[in-house]
Amino acid sequence: NGKTVSVVGLGDMGTALADALLAAGHRVTVWNRTAAKADPLVAKGAIRADTAADAVLASKLVVVCLLDYDSVSQVLGPHTDVLAGRTLVNLTNGTPGQAREMAAWAAEHGADYLDGGIMAVPPMIGKPGAFVLYSGPSGAFETWQPVLDLFGESRYVGDDAGAAALQDLALLSSMYGVIAGSLHALALVRSTGASAREFAPTLSKWLQGVVTWPVEAAERIDTGDYDKDVVSNLSMQSAGFANHFIAAEEQGISAELLLPVHQLMQRRVADGHGHEDFVGVIELLKR
Ligand code: NDP
Repeated sequence: NGKTVSVVGLGDMGTALADALLAAGHRVTVWNRTAAKADPLVAKGAIRADTAADAVLASKLVVVCLLDYDSVSQVLGPHTDVLAGRTLVNLTNGTPGQAREMAAWAAEHGADYLDGGIMAVPPMIGKPGAFVLYSGPSGAFETWQPVLDLFGESRYVGDDAGAAALQDLALLSSMYGVIAGSLHALALVRSTGASAREFAPTLSKWLQGVVTWPVEAAERIDTGDYDKDVVSNLSMQSAGFANHFIAAEEQGISAELLLPVHQLMQRRVADGHGHEDFVGVIELLKR
């Protein structure tokens, strides 16, 4: 049955994925280590598999969403005999290296392997705004895309199995950077006794202007030309950045989230690049 899909792992995310499949009318076979987590899905029509191997056997398309790659190895590792002819779509968060290793393991046992990175929280699954990165063989992606599109917009990023995990982590790192900077901003505002709620809309509006930064920086980064059309040189920015530490001291807050950024700026200036654009700091991140 082409409409049968298996979902292995029914945490918050796996449950949301299974829900989206059921809502679209698919026959869904589910398995979870803690079996009770399948109950609400079974009540909605999902089929409970007694073992992970049964779940794999039930469908050509097997979606896996567990805590981490160790869990995936523990769950699927003993069942290599049932993998042949299946497509495993692993939506568990991991690293490019882990994804490539699992792709090789799946191939060894006759399964197609797509790795995925979910760029959404569970309530967003199947709703506008959710997108999922996929990497692995393009043929397998094309075959299953109509089903995968039920989770959110599917973005295929290449045949290197590690590509989705790499872009997933890249996107998350940018998010954590924005959150870290915003936490510092809110700590500074709160140090005066002012309300975060009152300041937050100003912060959000400011960040909307920042969202186009990657697009503007991309050309400098690709060409390595940090000299051209500089309007805010790094020496000036590094000098101004020192005010964050003085203000933090004055207001009695810690500036530790900003410290590594300033250290990189200062190193880059000391290396003779003070006249260049801030973007040149990326050179110090290359090993
Ligand atoms: P949960 O903590 O809700 O669920 C974890 C799942 O992993 C459960 O099914 C749990 O089983 C299972 N599990 C953990 N360890 C083992 C093990 N050793 N053997 C068998 N099963 C195991 O996490 P989520 O569902 O939220 O997340 C799942 C994946 O999705 C993660 O990789 C996460 O990074 C990714 N993700 C999550 C997002 C989110 O916002 N929630 C967003 C984007 C990606 P049991 O029920 O038996 O404990």
